[in-house]
Amino acid sequence: MSQDWDAGRLDSDLEGVAFDTLAVRAGQHRTPEGEHGDAMFLTSSYVFRTAADAAARFSGEVAGNVYSRYTNPTVRAFEERMAALEGAEQAVATATGMAAILSVVMSLCSAGDHILVSRSVFGSTISLFEKYFKRFGVQVDYVPLAELAGWDAAIKPNTRLLFVESPSNPLAELVDIAALAEIAHAKGAMLVVDNCFCTPALQQPLKLGADIVVHSATKFIDGQGRCMGGVVAGRSEQMKEVVGFLRTAGPTLSPFNAWIFLKGLETLNLRMRAHCASAQALAEWLEQQDGIEKVHYAGLKSHPQHALAQRQQRGFGAVVSFEVRGGKEGAWRFIDATRLISITANLGDSKTTITHPSTTSHGRLAPQERAAAGIQDSLIRIAVGLEDVTDLQADLARGLAAL
Ligand SMILES: *Cc1c(COP(=O)(O)O)cnc(C)c1O
Repeated sequence: MSQDWDAGRLDSDLEGVAFDTLAVRAGQHRTPEGEHGDAMFLTSSYVFRTAADAAARFSGEVAGNVYSRYTNPTVRAFEERMAALEGAEQAVATATGMAAILSVVMSLCSAGDHILVSRSVFGSTISLFEKYFKRFGVQVDYVPLAELAGWDAAIKPNTRLLFVESPSNPLAELVDIAALAEIAHAKGAMLVVDNCFCTPALQQPLKLGADIVVHSATKFIDGQGRCMGGVVAGRSEQMKEVVGFLRTAGPTLSPFNAWIFLKGLETLNLRMRAHCASAQALAEWLEQQDGIEKVHYAGLKSHPQHALAQRQQRGFGAVVSFEVRGGKEGAWRFIDATRLISITANLGDSKTTITHPSTTSHGRLAPQERAAAGIQDSLIRIAVGLEDVTDLQADLARGLAAL
């Protein structure tokens, strides 16, 4: 979108620069005062020079800001940076990750359309599909994430979207995104990937053939547990519809949160590398310990999709889950014995978190549904933060000693 000033001479030339440079500079426009565009524009509306100027901006004849539900310079800087990092034609920011998913379905689906969803997606995502979209006549079916033949067989003539999270939470299963995109496209459907666990630093689904990426920016994009937000990224053709929905319905991102996320993105790659290195070290260590029955982490050679993860991702992420001896009681004793790690189901924070999925995030599922999803009572999930890995290992050792 053009500015009132000649941005060309003031902005950095980002042609051909690397990911880390984009993460720091993309979307940063400078005003004639030399102010950086990632300064915060905390304003709900914008003042016009003349009545004619107002009319031209309202009609869209002249590009520019009108009202912050439509556009805001700080939010736009964050959107441009996310588009650059995901390799998308366009990105739009939303108030939360759930608002991103809501906006995709509201703008691209109608009553009578069918959506196929991987079974292991985020709990609120399933509630949104089950409790709300179904009420408005959108059909929803669930498919195991990893099996491509199952996806192919479940696509119907009215299937509009395939929706996946890869890697899955908490068991770190993957789907071959490039192969799934081909299956979707062959039958006229679009592939939507929730890229929250990897971020574009580790995985760029659009480059693998997906049509749309959604994010909860609340997690690693912020990276320090401060505020809520979301992103939708994709081709202009679809994003035009998403933008239209957001402007009208209003789950837009606050400029304050956009400013936090811009700062978060500047360290995204550094943080993700540190999260991955510590997660790998802890996963390898856990796998050796007496009392640990199984470790789920795609960076381990024992992971059945390790080769796919190496091909599809630039790192294996921060989330490690493991089964301990002693069932639910063992898992609770392990968790309660830790002294440093935070007991919370959140992730993507600089602070390491620990949770018991079968009694928290997956607690509302019936026991047989949980079993079908592979969530054992003995399963613990950690989302590895940025503390010293030796201290984290010592804390997990307290858990092991309590088994
Ligand atoms: C947290 C999360 C969401 C929802 O994001 P909010 O910002 O909490 O609305 C969606 N998908 C995944 C994978 C998540 O972890």
